[in-house]
Amino acid sequence: MKKELIFMGPPASGKGTQTKKLAKDTGFVHVDTGSLLREAMANNTDAGKIAKDYVEKGQLVPVEVVANIIKERLKQDDVQQGFILDGFPRSLEQAHMLDDMLKEIDAGKEVKTTVIYFDIPIDNLMERIVYRRSCPKCGAIFNIKTMPIIKEGVCDYCQTELVQRKDDTEEIAKKRFETYFSQTAPLIDFYEKRGNLVKLDATGSIDEIYEKLKTVI
Ligand code: AMP
Repeated sequence: MKKELIFMGPPASGKGTQTKKLAKDTGFVHVDTGSLLREAMANNTDAGKIAKDYVEKGQLVPVEVVANIIKERLKQDDVQQGFILDGFPRSLEQAHMLDDMLKEIDAGKEVKTTVIYFDIPIDNLMERIVYRRSCPKCGAIFNIKTMPIIKEGVCDYCQTELVQRKDDTEEIAKKRFETYFSQTAPLIDFYEKRGNLVKLDATGSIDEIYEKLKTVI
């Protein structure tokens, strides 16, 4: 059976960190719209050129741009047994688009879809964002305030210099929270009514959350 996991939650709720761990341990393929968009921006593709302005302002990239990127990605061979979708859908419109895409891609297949909502108070998330650094090469995520890092400013896993995302400043993060509450949070109710939402208590250490996550997937 094809297993589709959709991860949702506010910015910096830990989705990316948990997805990377789960993907590494289980072979689930991680499909993350934020990373796909950043890659398109770095490669200066047409989609990347459009996305840049929105990403840097903390706004949602126009739906056609993201939907195209996601649709192409979800058609590829490596995700036909399942995937973890992180960062999509982010609005009701995108949720309906995803339904349509998957109806086409999954026609004739037996599929189990679970939406996991990372339930966490937003009080400390701003701190996580401004101290977050990521590895541009392997995608590892660090927090320079709360995580011990072997060599300052350098990725523990591949020794590449860590970077701060341009949208990880306090000013842009505020916008990203506003966008989340106005456009993405209504999806909790949408999937809850559909009966495939699991609320995951996303407080605690990375390992504690991971243990809880493994019991609900
Ligand atoms: P993330 O890495 O998930 O925090 O995403 C970074 C930024 O990429 C967001 O603030 C948006 O500007 C853009 N983005 C990511 N996913 C989507 C999406 N599903 N729809 C529109 N914009 C998105």
